Amino acid sequence: EEKIQLLKDNIGAIQDFPIKGILFRDIFTIFLEPKILQACIDIMIDTVKECSKDIGGIVGLDARGFLFGPSIALALKVPFIPVRKAGKLPGETIKESYDLEYGSNTVEIQKNSIKPGQRLLIVDDLLATGGTLKAACNLIEKVGGITDSCLVLIELTALKGRENVPSKVVSLIKYD
Ligand code: 5GP
Repeated sequence: EEKIQLLKDNIGAIQDFPIKGILFRDIFTIFLEPKILQACIDIMIDTVKECSKDIGGIVGLDARGFLFGPSIALALKVPFIPVRKAGKLPGETIKESYDLEYGSNTVEIQKNSIKPGQRLLIVDDLLATGGTLKAACNLIEKVGGITDSCLVLIELTALKGRENVPSKVVSLIKYD
């Protein structure tokens, strides 16, 4: 609880970014202070160990999921697998598109990066509408993996994004 409050106190909030009317939560403020970054990673690892059993891999979402995923994967001694925005991953990939308020997004995973039946935990920095996590769950299903759960540092609860995600969602810090 104390550590969570320390994190909450150290997440930046920037009004009108990337567009007017949005209050952007800036997690890079955590990375400016090694002690706070250490607390953040420690809490994430403890939470995964507490909430999830038999995790066989960590899936990190482009781009800020890449900041946390490998540290969790190392602690659990399991693989780290990236889900990237379209056009970035070499070799054979599987794609999933999802709608945004304006337009759409496509995310991709490497076909050979997941084994059939592998139990995965998805990690990202923030849950807003849930579209991104949902697309990642769909991708994992398409390549034959199983999503155990999703872990995010921040949840914007007013958007009710977790209702859109076909998996358990664990969040450490909540804002309205
Ligand atoms: P969703 O798909 O849930 O609507 O949006 C979540 C995705 O958008 C995440 O990948 C996250 O990185 C990004 N995102 C949306 N709003 C914010 C924000 O205020 N701060 C940060 N750091 N990321 C955001």
